[in-house]
Amino acid sequence: MKAIIVHGGAGDAKKLNEISVRVQVVKEASLEGYGVLKDGGSATDAAVAAVKILEDNPLFDAGKGSYLNEEGEVEMDAAVMNGNNLSIGAIAGIHKVKNPVELARVVMEKSPHNFLIGRGAEEFGKQFGIEFAPLHYFFTERLIQIWEGRYGDTVGAIALDESGLITAAVSTGGTQNKHVGRVGDSPLVGSGFYANDSFGAVSTGIGEDIMKVVLSFRISLYFPTHSLEESVKKSIDDLTKVNGKAGVIALDKNGNFAYGYNTKGMFRAYIKDGMLVPEATY
Ligand code: ASP
Repeated sequence: MKAIIVHGGAGDAKKLNEISVRVQVVKEASLEGYGVLKDGGSATDAAVAAVKILEDNPLFDAGKGSYLNEEGEVEMDAAVMNGNNLSIGAIAGIHKVKNPVELARVVMEKSPHNFLIGRGAEEFGKQFGIEFAPLHYFFTERLIQIWEGRYGDTVGAIALDESGLITAAVSTGGTQNKHVGRVGDSPLVGSGFYANDSFGAVSTGIGEDIMKVVLSFRISLYFPTHSLEESVKKSIDDLTKVNGKAGVIALDKNGNFAYGYNTKGMFRAYIKDGMLVPEATY
């Protein structure tokens, strides 16, 4: 079974025209990832390819278009996790990498460490041909006219390939106007992402809230004694109990998708074998 689910952030999007464009882009990202799976690529190849589409699109808070911190700088976080061997690559406080998810993958596959930050992470990436972008690449028109709340456009993907590998990937510019040095949930295993041999999950929303309930890993407290869908629902209920605001997407080894959020909406798209086109909505 080949399957992929992608999200483009949970939040309270207001501009209807921009909502439909963003739904279209998450759909394209899911198709890109699914195409990689169909061509025999791994779940890791597919999840990273899908996230890259969203990082390159300035409508999302990841890669180009990342929110700025209080000093007007970009500080990006990303992570990748392989559900078969539980290897993790996470990065935080990245300024100049065009596709942070690729750097996270390189950390997962080439570094003895799980988590690198800032200059050390960027230096590490140089050895493996990671592409850098000038600072002006990240500053977009949209950032100057931010139209949403202070969270909402992080991106993520979970893919399942024919071999049964589940990979979760996430990328974010963090929250708008954040303190210099602030790191949210996204690069923290268990909070922003999780994958093992039965399911994968990626969260989005206010990182400070997501960490309180370790939202992505939390699903495993309920799964498999509950369905994936019920497990996601219970995890979001737990988040609501601590007044948290976020969403989560999940995919299990049988290709079941689930998602939940207590924000107004969450951009998401998914496709698997047997579906002609992705289901995409906000
Ligand atoms: N969770 C991200 C963070 O707190 C933000 C988001 O999902 O939009 O950094």
